[in-house]
Amino acid sequence: MTVQELELPVTTSSFVRDLMADLKAKNPGEPEFHQAVLEVVESLDLVLERRPEYRSHGIIERFVEPERVLMFRVPWQDDQGRVQVNRGFRIQMNSAIGPYKGGLRFHASVNLGILKFLAFEQVLKNSLTTLPMGGGKGGSDFDPKGKSDNEVMHFCQSFMTELARHIGPDTDVPAGDIGVGGREIGYLFGQYKRLRNEFTGVLTGKGLNWGGSLIRPEATGYGSVYFASEMLATRNETLKGKVCLVSGSGNVAQYTVEKLNQLGAKAVTLSDSDGYIYDEAGITPEKLQFVMDLKNVRRGRIKEYADKFKGVVYAPHDPRLDTNQLWNHKAQCAFPSATQNEINAKDAANLLKNGVYVVSEGANMPTVLAGVHQFLDAKILYGPAKAANAGGVATSGLEMSQNSMRLSWTREEVDDRLHKIMKAIHKNCRDTAEAFGTPGNYVNGANIAGFLKVADAMMDQGLV
Ligand code: NDP
Repeated sequence: MTVQELELPVTTSSFVRDLMADLKAKNPGEPEFHQAVLEVVESLDLVLERRPEYRSHGIIERFVEPERVLMFRVPWQDDQGRVQVNRGFRIQMNSAIGPYKGGLRFHASVNLGILKFLAFEQVLKNSLTTLPMGGGKGGSDFDPKGKSDNEVMHFCQSFMTELARHIGPDTDVPAGDIGVGGREIGYLFGQYKRLRNEFTGVLTGKGLNWGGSLIRPEATGYGSVYFASEMLATRNETLKGKVCLVSGSGNVAQYTVEKLNQLGAKAVTLSDSDGYIYDEAGITPEKLQFVMDLKNVRRGRIKEYADKFKGVVYAPHDPRLDTNQLWNHKAQCAFPSATQNEINAKDAANLLKNGVYVVSEGANMPTVLAGVHQFLDAKILYGPAKAANAGGVATSGLEMSQNSMRLSWTREEVDDRLHKIMKAIHKNCRDTAEAFGTPGNYVNGANIAGFLKVADAMMDQGLV
């Protein structure tokens, strides 16, 4: 995915201009990190006018600097006995309101800048969940695609051998993300337990019979649909009968489609990095079951969906195109659930042209900044990632509580808590946007509400 040139709007304050210039000079070659920070500090201009003490305490300068960055070698042996070397990372971004918390991403594209953008977003997102969690993120440029279970296990064990000394249930609690699902969390947990000789809630997304929480796999997708429902409710509408574009076909995409089906909406697209399918008849529960087996068990490609079901169009990814055609179909709602910057400025224009007026971001930062501005200008119901996809980490927080209390809540209990948290996040974003003079702007609402709680905790804790 390409990263657009970051243009500062003419209204940007000199403080933000200087901050961005400094950030780019200090963090060269990290465009995704620059983009994530710019989107937030644009909103924070509104706060600094009212709370000048944040300036004098250097809160924003400290906010954009990770508390700690770990980078390490991960050597492992493949099935042919060859030595492989990957790079491992953990960004411990901010612990003002709780232990570091955030996922691990295993994907060939992973680098320091991408993980810093994710860790930065995570701080604000975790603050929005109402739970006591700081922010972090980590991962590796290891690509699990095409690797055997044995290779994935050896990689995970080597990765955890270094990571184990930096994490712990009261220090830093990683979870899954792209390329890290139940299988990887199992191997990582096993190695942590072996090294430390302790069985604790050091990771979330665990298996159900060894400390995992019901609804954790479903939580991000379900949460993003709940957020869309809340936004629609402000216009006295529901998801029933709405046509929805969904990208990705992994954890978030699958449970987004499941919840959309439950609420009477119709999902018509899914994708992976090779291409996308368009199924005008809708991805029914039976077809979704096929996708879950394809992706989670057989680890195949989404093209097989079009081979299996009649009337489905498959379009391979074409790197020569400057648009993603998945976003160019008639629909009312869009749920980007694959990866960052998957909606560029032209895609955003196509979405609006095709009648989409609800965008709920399951993926992190899936829309380039120029696209975000188009959605805000068009005054559609636009739920930015740090609010719309916070259900995943919120349920990880619930898993941590259950681990500490050594008990398990029922499926209904966890889903009910998740639903209430998503409603609370929606209300908080909406109320905050209004309080700062930009009603309906969930971007400002999420950035400001998430920031205030962390900033005040940093003020209380002194210069650390
Ligand atoms: P998965 O690995 O389960 O699925 C990712 C999906 O996105 C796959 O279909 C993958 O296709 C596709 N994808 C990944 N990278 C690219 C790319 N560069 N181009 C095109 N397609 C791509 O990950 P998740 O579903 O867990 O994560 C999806 C998004 O949601 C990410 O942005 C993640 O950060 C975010 N998120 C996830 C949470 C969670 O709880 N899992 C919580 C909050 C946010 P392929 O297999 O071909 O690579």
